[in-house]
Amino acid sequence: MTPLFDRLVVGTLPLVPRALVKRVASRYVAGETLDDALATVRALAAEGAMATLDILGESVTREEQTEATRDQYLRAIDAIASSGLDANVSVKPTAVGLAIDPTLALRNCTDICARAASHGMFVRLDMEDSPYTESTLRLALELKATFPAVGVAIQAYLKRSLHDLDRLIAARMNVRFCKGIYVEPRTIAWKEHATVNDSFGALVEKHLSAGCYASIATHDEACVQRALATIDRLSLGPDRYEFQMLLGVDPVLRRSLLDAGHRLRVYVPFGGDWYAYSTRRLKENPSIARHVIRATLGLGPAA
Ligand SMILES: Cc1cc2nc3c(=O)[nH]c(=O)nc-3n(C[C@H](O)[C@H](O)[C@H](O)COP(=O)(O)OP(=O)(O)OC[C@H]3O[C@@H](n4cnc5c(N)ncnc54)[C@H](O)[C@@H]3O)c2cc1C
Repeated sequence: MTPLFDRLVVGTLPLVPRALVKRVASRYVAGETLDDALATVRALAAEGAMATLDILGESVTREEQTEATRDQYLRAIDAIASSGLDANVSVKPTAVGLAIDPTLALRNCTDICARAASHGMFVRLDMEDSPYTESTLRLALELKATFPAVGVAIQAYLKRSLHDLDRLIAARMNVRFCKGIYVEPRTIAWKEHATVNDSFGALVEKHLSAGCYASIATHDEACVQRALATIDRLSLGPDRYEFQMLLGVDPVLRRSLLDAGHRLRVYVPFGGDWYAYSTRRLKENPSIARHVIRATLGLGPAA
């Protein structure tokens, strides 16, 4: 299908009934409740995969909302710990107050990290759009000074990332490497697919070569292959890195990495606020969005 058609499809998404988006997008979201999420984590564990839970919720503007999100994380952490499953949590800094006041985000994250630490659990800060890059890195570094089991994500499309990684390496941070999902201007972000892939490979290589733990989050075979080559060249054991993938994306690649003996963690989003996350995933993959639009129009499955 042409890129123009794909753009048209993506532009039409807001007109699609929410119920239909929900049905098609359900492969990307574990459900609305913590029990739904734990059932998904259990199914992944049966496949040999680990998980990280993300409570959906963005564009938070009130302090009480951030505290409600913090409390949901505390409940999720306790539930994971008592289930005995191999899972941790991923937190979007703006969901706990970074856009309101960095000290509020620090306070909420401190509570989350303290609860996780009491169970020996790791906490990851996701990386959001560029207005929050610097404040997220600072938040992660500040938390890391108190809680060793804290990590952050870094985006290969941002030109600054290679330099930012120096600070994270100095702190021996567990870093998740991803390409980046937000739309950023060319002044600050690489735009070519090949350039972003090169950047991804260079970041992973720099981090692993420095002896730090890398979480390699991609579904791109080329990025996986280059990471595997780096791991092989450095003769690293499977305890020095993990692969990460999103729930619902490329189970074949997931299976092949697990079968080859690599550790793999699946990002499992859940919660009532599923719509923004789901439409972002659909925009990323217009071929799925196309099925939604065809169903809306009463047409049969796409060829
Ligand atoms: C575990 C995890 C955590 C992440 N955390 C962050 C974060 O903190 N901040 C951030 O900005 N981004 C994050 N991302 C998102 C990441 O930046 C995007 O997924 C990125 O746009 C796609 O990267 P890719 O490496 O899969 O490569 P791409 O080149 O985009 O995709 C490679 C292949 O995977 C397929 N694919 C990719 N995404 C999907 C999808 N949603 N549905 C179906 N097929 C798909 C493509 O069709 C393509 O064939 C995370 C991703 C993962 C896997």
